[in-house]
Amino acid sequence: MAQFSINRTTTPTADAARKAALADPGFGRYYVDHMAVVDYIGGDGWQEPRIVPTTEWALHPASAVLHYGQEIFEGMKAYRHDDNSIWLFRPERNAARFVNSARRMGMAVLPEDIFLASVEELVKLEHEWVPVSENEQSLYLRPFMIASEPYLGVREANTYRYAVIATPAGPYYSEPVKLWITPNYTRAAPGGTGTAKCGGNYAASLIATEEAYANGCGQVLWLDGAERKWVEECGTMNIMFVTADGELLTPQLGTILPGVTRESILKLAADHDLKPVERMISIDEVLDGVGNGQIAEVFACGTAAVVTPITGFNSPDRGPQEVGDGTPGRKTREIRQHLVDIQYGRAEDKHGWMRRV
Ligand code: PMP
Repeated sequence: MAQFSINRTTTPTADAARKAALADPGFGRYYVDHMAVVDYIGGDGWQEPRIVPTTEWALHPASAVLHYGQEIFEGMKAYRHDDNSIWLFRPERNAARFVNSARRMGMAVLPEDIFLASVEELVKLEHEWVPVSENEQSLYLRPFMIASEPYLGVREANTYRYAVIATPAGPYYSEPVKLWITPNYTRAAPGGTGTAKCGGNYAASLIATEEAYANGCGQVLWLDGAERKWVEECGTMNIMFVTADGELLTPQLGTILPGVTRESILKLAADHDLKPVERMISIDEVLDGVGNGQIAEVFACGTAAVVTPITGFNSPDRGPQEVGDGTPGRKTREIRQHLVDIQYGRAEDKHGWMRRV
């Protein structure tokens, strides 16, 4: 296990201020006092892992990330159980995805044991920032890596900075949303960066999200970038369908982000009398199925909201369409509760997913 040196801040958040922040944390509003940092220097490799004050960050304005966007990240949570112990959910899956993202973006590959240690050491040091378990609160962890080399030529950078920051996340209400089927934008193309968790994917998606809002929807439903026919994912979540035949249907991997929540829910399907099926699903199959009842429920899944019910679609071609009676379905609610209960230590962790910090 990588050893992190600790350089403590001389101006830590006062207890009263932290308590006030945790009483109403929102999301991304407050940050813990420290971050984990590991630098990479081409030729020398990964440098000493360290934990330093979050304020200690300087970047040359020519750093490649600021110009060509060589950046990747992860998103995960630390959960406080009722006995006050703190746990991570399948962090090794995030570590593995981080490796894949780095490879795709031509970046240095962070050894998975350093990734895991960085997250665990930061949570240990900042344990007071992990909120109480009520109302699904958590400490959100954001591991990320940038090309830090000051160099304006276009090529893979030679130096990188990996860091982990953390922000408390308050009660998360997964409000049902409607999905906008955009005629104008796609998220990923064959051979592109769809499977990588890189900042550029998100920058390119923002305009489509605004279009969704303008059309009375909360998120975008992404179709494939080649034929604009196949359903891929929605917003920053994977998508799943509960069919009348008892299938839990989801697009296969390829150009979508391989979600940790997606992978986990597919493994829980059998507990809910559903058969997991991964295959290509056309938008016509979805809209026809929603219309004729072949698709009974639709939900999105991801670390932030766990499971978000999808209650309708809107598109220029076919107009607004509701799923079922427009309210969250029963399987959707059951699966969500099951996963949340595992994460907060209230249901049996049959698959050994939880890792104690
Ligand atoms: N798709 C996209 C585009 C995402 O950004 C995310 C969030 N990481 C997901 C799916 C869900 O992934 P996970 O379950 O690992 O959070």
